Amino acid sequence: MVKCLKCGRCCIETQMPLTRRDIERIERLGYRRWEFSVENDGKLKLRNINGYCYFLNPKNMKCKIYRDRPEGCRIYPVVYIEGGYVGVDDECPASKTVTIREICKKKPKLIKLLIEVEGLRK
Ligand code: SF4
Repeated sequence: MVKCLKCGRCCIETQMPLTRRDIERIERLGYRRWEFSVENDGKLKLRNINGYCYFLNPKNMKCKIYRDRPEGCRIYPVVYIEGGYVGVDDECPASKTVTIREICKKKPKLIKLLIEVEGLRK
């Protein structure tokens, strides 16, 4: 859907929430929950180390768990907006490569997923 420029900008100072499925999938890789997540506003989110996501390799700006990355990372720059809306985060340099028409086509599925991503409480 989005033509990712692989700049890694979205992995710097990440605030990405984690779903229960994300946590279980990443734990199956051998990582421990307390290593890669932090609690913020009652939600579990990815931990930052030195300003980068725990899973970002800052030398090559690649994700160490790309195939198993969290749901929110997969659909970014599409984000949940309070009130049940979806939008595109314009901080992403690839945000102009996705059209609102494409988002609307996938909206029902995206809203369900985004509510799940944003709604996880500890
Ligand atoms: S899990 Fe991977 S894609 Fe998601 S923020 Fe971290 S490094 Fe980036």
